[in-house]
Amino acid sequence: MTLPENFKAGFVSIVGKANVGKSTLMNRILGEKLSIVTPKPQTTRVSIKGIYNSDDMQIIFLDTPGFVEPRYELHNRMINYIKESLKDSDLIIFITDINDFPTEYDQKVIELIKEVKKPSIALLNKIDLCTESMIKDKTEKINQSFDKVYPISALYVKEIDSLLKEICTFLPYNPPLYSQEDMSDLPMRFFAQEIIRERIFMNLDQEIPYSSAVVVDAYEEHERHDFIRATIYLERETQKPILLGKNGAKIGKIRREAELGIQQLSGKPTKLNLWIKVKPDWRKKSGLLSIFGYK
Ligand code: GDP
Ligand code: MG
Repeated sequence: MTLPENFKAGFVSIVGKANVGKSTLMNRILGEKLSIVTPKPQTTRVSIKGIYNSDDMQIIFLDTPGFVEPRYELHNRMINYIKESLKDSDLIIFITDINDFPTEYDQKVIELIKEVKKPSIALLNKIDLCTESMIKDKTEKINQSFDKVYPISALYVKEIDSLLKEICTFLPYNPPLYSQEDMSDLPMRFFAQEIIRERIFMNLDQEIPYSSAVVVDAYEEHERHDFIRATIYLERETQKPILLGKNGAKIGKIRREAELGIQQLSGKPTKLNLWIKVKPDWRKKSGLLSIFGYK
């Protein structure tokens, strides 16, 4: 296939605090559930590169984690992390929840974006939950800081096409930077891990989802189905019976739902085998954190 002369390709960072709809937006654009979406904050722990491919452009998205825990170190960590993802971007998409905009966090991120002097657009998300007058009011408030402002609803957007056209105007003329068949440069086992984690979040309350890490120990591709073995690490022995549920009902439900989710993405029947282990206080141990993939 020959490339059109005016092909464009570039990097777009999506920044904003936790729970504003970053993952939802990216998934709507890519049409696949790449980044896990749950109603709980802080479910995105690593940046996910999603790749949008069409005949005339390639957009590489960085979906950054938001920060919610009020910590002394928070400010520095937030700034470093966001700066990192803005460094190579051709366009920055700032996304916020219109209903509580502007928060202190929003103000700080906007300052940062101004500092890096890159093209930027703002998305005021969740307009399905607010009034027309609020949309007008908040759009005016944020307008002077960005090249463009769009009030949207990532859950219900019909404006995806016009948003993509808008993004395209900011991209440089480039040949594709990644294979045009790929939706991500992350391996399928990473998504398997994220899907299992998502099902834990959806099936259990309180601290267990935050106390669990998932490691895919084996991902075998067979002719008729894929076989995956994964371990769920918990922080305390007392959490084990809760995750198992009565007669193993809870873990069984998590397993079946995860199998379906993985299958949807890989397009192949999947058998999942789940193990549970306890690593006391793994969240506080940096060695374990890196084994679990959190840099
Ligand atoms: P992230 O932390 O910024 O990646 O946020 P998520 O994409 O995980 O979304 C957080 C929550 O907000 C989820 O429950 C979404 O379904 C919800 N959400 C996202 N966009 C919208 C929207 O446009 N309207 C409404 N009502 N909810 C939304
Ligand atoms: Mg997210």
